[in-house]
Amino acid sequence: MSMFSRRSWLTAGAGLGLAVLLSACASAPTAMVPTATKPAPGVARVDLGGITVTTLSDGVAVRPLDANFVRNVPLADVQQALRDANLPTDKVEIPFVPLVVETGGQRVLVDAGNGEFGAATAGKLLEQMAKAGISPASINAVVISHFHGDHINGLRNKAGELVFPNARIYVPAPEWDWWMDDARMNAAPENARGGFNNARRVFGPIAGSVVRFQPGAEVLPGLRSVAAFGHTPGHTVFTIEGSKRRMLYWADAANVAALFVRNPEWAVAFDQDAEAARKVRRQLAEMAVEQNLLVAGYHLPGSAMGTLTRRGSGYEFTPF
Ligand SMILES: [Zn+2]
Repeated sequence: MSMFSRRSWLTAGAGLGLAVLLSACASAPTAMVPTATKPAPGVARVDLGGITVTTLSDGVAVRPLDANFVRNVPLADVQQALRDANLPTDKVEIPFVPLVVETGGQRVLVDAGNGEFGAATAGKLLEQMAKAGISPASINAVVISHFHGDHINGLRNKAGELVFPNARIYVPAPEWDWWMDDARMNAAPENARGGFNNARRVFGPIAGSVVRFQPGAEVLPGLRSVAAFGHTPGHTVFTIEGSKRRMLYWADAANVAALFVRNPEWAVAFDQDAEAARKVRRQLAEMAVEQNLLVAGYHLPGSAMGTLTRRGSGYEFTPF
């Protein structure tokens, strides 16, 4: 590893994880698309065979559309893509959708929502869980894809209390190593330390008990992690492997579907390494199509889980 820069090692790691996954799953059976039930607005559930996945809307953030949102194409192209999807062209609505996976007798929350720290239109996860009959105390585990605030802030409230008091927390080791590195934080300009400070707010008091897993590991029964570095240095996605169907939860591999699923080469402002993120986005989408995986994503529309098909030079996501 010494012959590689950290960055090329990360990129190589992402490719390796996907290659291993591809070869392991080449014989995935094709099957009918299962039907999802919708116990309440903003809640959808699908049975993968021995494993149930429930998506719960944490709400949305709305941001004015400007030339910075998509870094590498003219604003007019972005507006046209929104128009083609019958969406407003002066703003973008970004949904946040955590999952609850019930597997092997455990109830696992995957990504934790904005909690009390996001837009007024976000932070709805606990409300949605109540509607779905899922109490915070019944969550046995929380698995985190990466350390951006919209994914980890729901773990600890403003009073400093853990929101899921009985949950063991699992995080990707490379993500932890990046954000919890004091030397890296201190080397960053003062105004770029928000992410580092926030990771300490959330995880600092429980640093000893957080489980740091290596991407590639099966974190919990049927929930296998896959390195997908780029969006952040340790961004990690998951396959959820039921006996009937398999699902890919790609976390933030693609943001707003009408823009970045349709145009996987487009780079959203939030991707830390846009080049690596672009590669990963394409690899994951190809994997999903070739292996007939159901797809879920943290910023996908509607139920945030459904099917993916090729369309033009990109893809089309169809939610349940
Ligand atoms: Zn996100």
